[in-house]
Amino acid sequence: MSETARIVDPLGKLYNCPPLVGREEFSIGDVWNGLNYKFSEFMTLDVWRNDQCLDCTYVPMCGSVCRYEAHLKTGDIYAPDCEKEFFERTTPEMIKFEYDAAQQSLRADGPEFENGSFSE
Ligand code: SF4
Repeated sequence: MSETARIVDPLGKLYNCPPLVGREEFSIGDVWNGLNYKFSEFMTLDVWRNDQCLDCTYVPMCGSVCRYEAHLKTGDIYAPDCEKEFFERTTPEMIKFEYDAAQQSLRADGPEFENGSFSE
């Protein structure tokens, strides 16, 4: 999986992500003709350009998340898929985890960083 990976179904249709496979209205092209207008549409959606998201702390890491979830929840693949509650519950713990991991890595690789400076 990567940003440039595509999925090919048994009929040669291309999709951006696994849950959309088989839903031809979301196909981004096929192996014979390449990418279609839907691909450009998906890549330039900017679903986060709304008042709710523009006022949200998590917009740089969210971007209004998953198009398939939006489709499931609202019937509209272009609707925001808000996971703010999830981010609020998990982000502080993730930051602590990453900070601890960075500290351990520093301790293992070099001088200790404590009270704003490195020890010799
Ligand atoms: S968490 Fe919700 S409000 Fe915030 S950027 Fe994501 S979709 Fe928008």
